[in-house]
Amino acid sequence: MEREDAYRIALAGLLHDIGKFAQRTGGWQGAHTEVGGEFVRQFVPEGWQADLYPVMGHHDEPLLTYEAKLIALADRLSAGERLAAEAAQPRQLLSIFCSLTADGQQAPEDKYWPLKPLRLEEAAVFPDESLAESQVTAAYSALWRGFEQETRHLLKAHARAESLSTYLESMLLLLQRYVWCVPSAYYRSVPDVSLYDHSRATAALAVCLMEQPETHIDELLRALKTWHQERAKALDAPPPPVLEETTVALLVGGDISGVQDFIYTITARGATSALRGRSFYLQLLTEAVARYVLRRLELPITNLLYQGGGHFYLLARPSDSSCLAEIRQEVSRILLRYHQGDLYLALAELSLVAADFYEGRISQKWGALVEHLRRAKQRRFAELGPGLADLFAPQGHGGNEERECQVCGREHPGTRTDDDVRKCPPCLSYEELGDRLRQARYLWLTEMKADDELGAESGGWEEVLRAFGLQAGVAEELTAVPNTGRPRWILALEDDAMDNLRPDAHTVVGRRLLVNVTPVYGKADEEWLGRLPKAQQGALRQELPQEPQGKIKPFALLEAQSTGIPRLGVLRMDVDNLGTLFAKGLGDQATFSRVAALSFAISLFFEGWVEVLAKRVGKTADGRDRLYSIYSGGDDLFFVGSWDAVVELARKIRADLTRFAADHPGVHASAGIALVGGKYPLYQAAGDAGRAEAQAKEVRRRVNGREHRKDGIAFLGQAIPWRQFGVEECREGMETVHSLAHWLERLTRDEQDGGAKAPKALLQMLIRLQEQYAEATKERALLGEDRNKAGEEQVYYGPWMWRGHYFLKRMARRYEKDDPEVAKAVDGLAEHLHGENFRAIEWIGLAARWAELLGRDRST
Ligand SMILES: [Zn+2]
Repeated sequence: MEREDAYRIALAGLLHDIGKFAQRTGGWQGAHTEVGGEFVRQFVPEGWQADLYPVMGHHDEPLLTYEAKLIALADRLSAGERLAAEAAQPRQLLSIFCSLTADGQQAPEDKYWPLKPLRLEEAAVFPDESLAESQVTAAYSALWRGFEQETRHLLKAHARAESLSTYLESMLLLLQRYVWCVPSAYYRSVPDVSLYDHSRATAALAVCLMEQPETHIDELLRALKTWHQERAKALDAPPPPVLEETTVALLVGGDISGVQDFIYTITARGATSALRGRSFYLQLLTEAVARYVLRRLELPITNLLYQGGGHFYLLARPSDSSCLAEIRQEVSRILLRYHQGDLYLALAELSLVAADFYEGRISQKWGALVEHLRRAKQRRFAELGPGLADLFAPQGHGGNEERECQVCGREHPGTRTDDDVRKCPPCLSYEELGDRLRQARYLWLTEMKADDELGAESGGWEEVLRAFGLQAGVAEELTAVPNTGRPRWILALEDDAMDNLRPDAHTVVGRRLLVNVTPVYGKADEEWLGRLPKAQQGALRQELPQEPQGKIKPFALLEAQSTGIPRLGVLRMDVDNLGTLFAKGLGDQATFSRVAALSFAISLFFEGWVEVLAKRVGKTADGRDRLYSIYSGGDDLFFVGSWDAVVELARKIRADLTRFAADHPGVHASAGIALVGGKYPLYQAAGDAGRAEAQAKEVRRRVNGREHRKDGIAFLGQAIPWRQFGVEECREGMETVHSLAHWLERLTRDEQDGGAKAPKALLQMLIRLQEQYAEATKERALLGEDRNKAGEEQVYYGPWMWRGHYFLKRMARRYEKDDPEVAKAVDGLAEHLHGENFRAIEWIGLAARWAELLGRDRST
């Protein structure tokens, strides 16, 4: 019964401000609470309408029911401020990045999210200038029509009001889709929190507050009111003691550790297909564990604040602490049983008092929770107590070669040979999952009784999820989704796949963002292969599985399909200083909803938009896919593919991140790229790319006396700021490494391939030039002579400058008669090299090496 009550309150919290959305279409008259009430009468199944009185009553004076008080208090805490009931409403949602201070800077101008349903389209995802007044109402009306239609489907599906939990989650997903871009009320007139983030945070808090008796809720509300009045007089008025003394909720964090090793420490044999499956399994596992925790605590889905990329955050009641300790043990036992200590879930909690939701304190709390998680990870499995050592004992007997898996190296009784490689059942199961995922358009989940018979017969991923009470799978068509009669979820992995989805009384439907970019062998690859010389073709065919059509392309093929030199590119990239952005970026304006809004925005980019970019950049004109997403979530990503495509992807991501973040100069990312052969061990490649990323994080540059840190890329062993590397569209020029590389490549290409046939010696010369410069600079730095009085690094003008100039001039003259274009180009380069503020000496060789790799004839 208690569980049912929690769902009612959650639904009331979720819908408490829905009237604001309706109001802005211009078609609904009255206060937002009245409009909300009308929405409930028209669109919520009759059976639950009576529970939704707080939607109408949460601004009443006095508040009439306990439920209305819960919502009113949760509303205030989530917004971190007293809410003006009917003040002028903001028209459009300001990008949360415009409220962020990072690197001591702010976004140059206000940008607003478009008023459009959430789809991975340019026009929906990127912020822009605000719309004209006349356009706003029309945009709201269009948005509302879509929402209304979907709400009717939901009403029909739940006419008999059977499963409130299913209805609640469907409504949550609907709000995500339509209300993500609708501003909530505002705090100091900054409308940067969406109604979606504010509503779900209110729902979560209201459920936690249910533990407080009514008298206590009254007391808290009164104290808040007093505090607001006092702060109106003096901003630094301290909160009344009750706001500091009452724990109102627990902030709970979960973090799976061992992820990196789990994904990358597999051998190259069968790696391509297993990789994607392993990485996706970890995402499913995060979800299964998060839902398991919610179910054990009897909390509704609205209490889950974030899940993805091996992490989750949720809000629990103060009294859930002891149950959390039990859950910690249960989860550890299951993970230990199936993964022998390879994977561990750190689960930590932190008490929140009412005052923690004000004056930006919530970010510090979040930071403290992350610290708790870090410490928990250092004491892996400590919650299981003594006797743990037995469980860590090796499972196999050692030396039993037939049972040793050639992919992961573990012994397993069920190991068998597949495609000439010995694989254990778990590895086979990941491979199968990866294979199914490549064409998947839907992810489905269904709840089941947690399987407490931990037999570990095969230990495949499905069994592990079952141990957490979840069954899962992916499907290309809806008809392939099993209907077990139990509660289930069907989540579209593509925007278009949403169109066919209809909810029913036991099925939640919605969109799930998932970067799922897999290079599949197809007709275009077959034709490409057919054009190759016989010997090379034969060698590559040996790398392919027996029936390659529709299967994931092996690394050897991605390597061979590079432009220029055949190499595999491995990319690792993440947002710089993300922890600081969350902990300090919002300053004293950090509210619970704002932190949620920032985290939603970051995941929209890395779990959503990156997929669009990767699909676009990875595809060649003749239809071959050359990029493979191993992982992209939270704020970081790992891609493998043909090296030139990987570099272009990194550039695109960096460029779009800025556009996405409202051109905020302090929101940036660093990338590391390693080039390896297709047979190179993956964990080493991952390590190489990781080290390159770390090198990129060391990048420093000074502009106008101000030092800028990070925001770089390490490529071909050199780390350089993005600004110099170049993030612009592909073009030729001398301004960036990228534009110069393209220019040099065409200049030195053969005439029959559209080049200008300048001698390759040009490239060698530029590479040597930079080398000489680098050596001399290093020596000078040792002597401490590399900086001027302002501490800025100086370009070192040495003999190589005039030598380079002379060499290029001479080369230009040689071409003057026969090939004026080359002559002009080389001459331009010489002049550029001579220029006053010439810094290109620091990267001219990098551009030349890049051009050289791009132009490398693959037959040699
Ligand atoms: Zn294995």
